[in-house]
Amino acid sequence: MSGFIRLCNDGWTQGWHERNGGNATYRMKPEEVDSCRPFFIEGGDWIALDVEMENLAGEYFITTGTGKHFNNVILEPEISLGITEINEKGNAYRIVWGLNNGKDRPTSEFPTHLLNHSIKKAANPEYRMIYHAHPIHLIALTFVLPLESKAFTKALWKTMTECPIIFPHGIAVLPWMVPGGVEIAKATSALVGEFDAVVWAHHGIFCMGTNFDTTFGLMHTIEKSAAIYMDILHTGKPILQTISDEQLLQLEEPYNVKLNRDFID
Ligand SMILES: [Zn+2]
Repeated sequence: MSGFIRLCNDGWTQGWHERNGGNATYRMKPEEVDSCRPFFIEGGDWIALDVEMENLAGEYFITTGTGKHFNNVILEPEISLGITEINEKGNAYRIVWGLNNGKDRPTSEFPTHLLNHSIKKAANPEYRMIYHAHPIHLIALTFVLPLESKAFTKALWKTMTECPIIFPHGIAVLPWMVPGGVEIAKATSALVGEFDAVVWAHHGIFCMGTNFDTTFGLMHTIEKSAAIYMDILHTGKPILQTISDEQLLQLEEPYNVKLNRDFID
């Protein structure tokens, strides 16, 4: 819980969570569930999910609450956050801790998160964290770069040497869509099997990872590179040199990474 609270507060201090913007969920390890179990509340109502996710049956998730502000998480985690249990069919959940003693609801994006958790777990059971935020410079970039995965990946890879090492597979980009709806959930879930980061144009980004540090660190790295890119544009000066594709490939061996060839020319 303290790691989840810290992630929320770190996101707030970065300026990524105006008002109630953003949401996060974490699939708990069995030993983490056991240590929290003495605090669980009994008898919560099961709430149906629109989809059945068999591989999430019996899992427990920490989640941010709908309408909750990230800056309040550190002050009142038992109000702003909750722990939910998924039923034995993977088609319903109930609140077992927090969210104002179960009176409030998980983030409105909870079904979208669960769908993506299901896909990520199937691909790699180590994946546990999904985090959505509104990073300033990355959103700004969605107005000046083509809304294509290759354009974003190349721009960020070539702006900061760390980027191709941190996200060698690149990042995916979706055009503007209505948030909270089925269409954006489907479009995002079609990409998360392959990518750990999906940009929503003029809105924000979803990042996925195995733990709090890798997930937050991925978003932080992407946003920092976007900030540098915007600073370069602000100078108004022509770009005299950048990292070439050949140089990007030179990172592979020493850092034991394989860059996505779809994005190398
Ligand atoms: Zn959002």
